[in-house]
Formats: sequence, C-alpha cells, structure tokens
Amino acid sequence: MKSYDKKVLPLSLKGDNNNFVEAEKLQRILIEWFYEHGRDFPWRDEKALDPYKVLVTEILLQKTRADAVAVIWHDFFKAFPTVKALAESTEDHVLKVIQRLGLAFRAKRLIKISNQIIKEFNGAVPSSFDELLRLHGIGPYVASAVLCFAYGKPQPIVDVNVMRMMNRFKGFIDEKSIREYISKVIPQDHPREFNWALLDIAATICGPDKPNCFACPLDSTCPKINARMSQWRIMRKNVRGGVKLSLQPYSVRKKTKAKPK
Ligand code: SF4
Repeated sequence: MKSYDKKVLPLSLKGDNNNFVEAEKLQRILIEWFYEHGRDFPWRDEKALDPYKVLVTEILLQKTRADAVAVIWHDFFKAFPTVKALAESTEDHVLKVIQRLGLAFRAKRLIKISNQIIKEFNGAVPSSFDELLRLHGIGPYVASAVLCFAYGKPQPIVDVNVMRMMNRFKGFIDEKSIREYISKVIPQDHPREFNWALLDIAATICGPDKPNCFACPLDSTCPKINARMSQWRIMRKNVRGGVKLSLQPYSVRKKTKAKPK
C-alpha cells in the first residue's frame, strides 16, 4: 500500500480544543495504520469505488466472510458489469455466480434493487441516505458504506465489530452514541481510509474473546473498557430500514447441580 502523506492530513473537527486534539490524533493513528496494515480487497481498489460496485459488494458481504466474497468478486462484475446488465439478468444466472457464498435470497434482492434503481433513480445509485434506505432490504450500514466508499462522504460505518471495539475504546453501549462520536472525529478527507482502518482493527485485532492490544495502534490511548468481551452481548433489533445494534450486560448463569432423584 502507498505510504501516507502526513502533509495532506485533514482536520475536520470543529469544537473545543480537547476534542480537536483527540480527533487529530485518532485520524493520524488510524489512517497511517491503514496504509501500512489495512487489508487488501479487490473492492478497495480505486477503480472499484463506483456506486454500483460498492452497493453490490456490500450486499454480498452481508453475513459472509470477506475472503469468500473476494473469490467471486471479479466473476460477478464480469457477468454483470452495470446496473442495467444486472437488472436484465435472471435470478438463476445471478445465483449461479454467487452460489459459493450461500444465502440464495441475495440473488432475488440484487435483481430487485437493480430494477428499482433503473425505474426510480434513472439507473444511478442514489447518493442520499434516505434514498438509499428506500432500496429493497438496504439498512443504515449498507447506506453508510455506499455514501462513504462510493461518494467519499464522511459517514460513520458501524457493524457489530466496531460496536465492540468502541465499547472498549470509549465505553459506548449503543449504536447512536457510536455513530455520533465517529461523525465528530472522522476526517472530511480520507473518510474511506479512516473507516477501513476501524473496520479492519475491529475485525482482526479487537476480537470478541481476547483483544490483541499489543498489535493495536490504539494500545497506548485505549482504556480497554470491558476488554473481556464475555461480559457483554451484542443485541440486534430489527427496525424499519435495517437492524439496530446495542450492547447489553451479559450475566453468566451459574450452573446448578441437578437434584438427585
Ligand atoms: S487497544 Fe485493545 S481493547 Fe483497545 S481497541 Fe485496540 S485491541 Fe481493542
């Protein structure tokens, strides 16, 4: 990965000095770490950051390992290079291309969404949060990912891994607080690298059972709240337009001995 030019580091946060310093520090740490250690995926290539490819990729990544998606990613866009090509295809054809990933319902969803984009948005993937949420089965996570990765907007992207990491890093237990915090510290420029760093660290270093803090770029600044993740459980609640996440205390039940008969 190319090295990061510190001179172009933007500072997006306006506010009191402490918050400004915190945002600056976090931006530098995360973006520099990303250029050095961030994961390489075909959808992170500059040429792959068009709205159609980002939207489809995020749908393919739902509940699926990234390395599995990487295997079929080029084949998918070879078969369906545009939103029009996808809309004009058949469910069987899409299914054949993505069958390795499982979750067959996605074939139907992809065709439905592509037709919706053609009919309601003149063939262009929408660029506003509310319009993206109007697409069939699209929730806040995918909408945020499209806005950030395709349109370069400083949008917070919060999955269950980022929630767990942010609980340890800032003590937040609900998605709303985490989104608000990230909105304040994410840079106007380089928002993609900032979010990719958070997603990668949360997925590969700040794991559920034992965070690998020695390998984490936030080690010296992180208070490691609830670092023993067994104390917390991530709750998912289906709400209109997606899933709402929160963390809840996890009470371990003591095993009671069975009474002798
Ligand atoms: S220092 Fe440890 S607990 Fe904190 S974010 Fe990094 S891996 Fe997670």
